[in-house]
Amino acid sequence: KHPAWQSAHDVMETLEQHGHEAVIVGGAVRDYLLDKPANDVDVATSAMPLEVKALFEKTVDVGIAHGTILVLDFEEPIEVTTFRTEGTYTDRRRPDEVTFVRSLAEDLKRRDFTINAMALRRSGELVDLYRGQEDLQQQIIRAVGEPYARFSEDALRIIRGVRFVAQLGFTLEQETLIAMQKTSHYLGEIAIERVKAEWDKIFVSRAPEKAMYYMQEYNLGEAIPGAFEAYTKWQNYAAKDAKWGWTYWCILTNDLTLLQQYRCSNDEKSFVKQAKACYDILLQHQPTKFELFQYDLKYWKCAYELLALQNVTKVISYPELVKEKQDLPIQHVQEIAVTGKHLMTWTNQKGGPWLREVLDEIVKRVVNGQLENNEQTIKEWLQNEWFV
Ligand code: ATP
Ligand code: MG
Repeated sequence: KHPAWQSAHDVMETLEQHGHEAVIVGGAVRDYLLDKPANDVDVATSAMPLEVKALFEKTVDVGIAHGTILVLDFEEPIEVTTFRTEGTYTDRRRPDEVTFVRSLAEDLKRRDFTINAMALRRSGELVDLYRGQEDLQQQIIRAVGEPYARFSEDALRIIRGVRFVAQLGFTLEQETLIAMQKTSHYLGEIAIERVKAEWDKIFVSRAPEKAMYYMQEYNLGEAIPGAFEAYTKWQNYAAKDAKWGWTYWCILTNDLTLLQQYRCSNDEKSFVKQAKACYDILLQHQPTKFELFQYDLKYWKCAYELLALQNVTKVISYPELVKEKQDLPIQHVQEIAVTGKHLMTWTNQKGGPWLREVLDEIVKRVVNGQLENNEQTIKEWLQNEWFV
């Protein structure tokens, strides 16, 4: 068990001792029943947010408007959320208002899927008002309540459902799936960051292709950028053990605009662009020494994995490439024996764009083996060839 379970128990004990109801809810209960390690252990309570705050020494108001307080009194931080209902969703994103309630049943009713709508008391008693346990056993993802209404009020639940399919390998219940199909266009109204977060979980799940299959076959991906292309490419190329991700997705669909569309981080963008550059090089020609120098091994490795998926014959094997790269005169720009300072002194000139230009040329020549990486040699070359 995750150490957070003990902390959650400690939190619940305190709340109960003060006459409040407290339970573990959501994903932790689901994962516990599946015998899987929990992501996070959340506590729900009948105590109002201010009552929760008053009972613990160290708390952080992480989402007090929505009733969530982070309790830091124990080994692991625990999120404690007051039982609540959600009012209408006029924008299909966030409820117009949340109302705190004293009833656990009310709280469970607002949850997305039956397998996520169970609660566990400290005594070990399971509160399962929507046959979540049965659905867990049957491996079914089923909406709580009237599916069409639930997906219409919050379309994120559609891709969450698809994500659980991928993570758990479960099947979408018929009525739930039909309602998802009818409401999938609303997904276009959901903040793209939230959709991306679901993709990130899908990518590292046990069955990403299952999620993509649902998006394609049932049109659930109509408002999700790149979803259809992803499935097609996956089918054509993917090996069973391929680790799908942004890089694979963007390169295989040849669509770097996905990075922009999903507001990917600069790190993600940079990785994909460099891996794509290596991939394109390998498709066309034997990498030059300078190209080998330019890109880190991790990008080449990724490009090789992608080519392997497509059974493309490589111009050079990966081990050969690694060796060629290691045999380059230098591995990093910093290893060049001269600096801008040297250049300015030798030429008696002030800094400026010319410095970058000359340094780049030196790096290129050293990498290509045309110039020895030695202060004196470089100085002579500079005086003879550059400033003639
Ligand atoms: P994970 O393992 O990814 O944490 P989770 O089920 O715990 O999965 P969370 O996003 O942590 O997912 O949400 C916790 C719980 O809150 C869910 O189990 C579910 O009961 C409820 N929930 C989350 N998002 C929604 C939503 N959009 N609509 C209804 N209920 C939701
Ligand atoms: Mg969770």
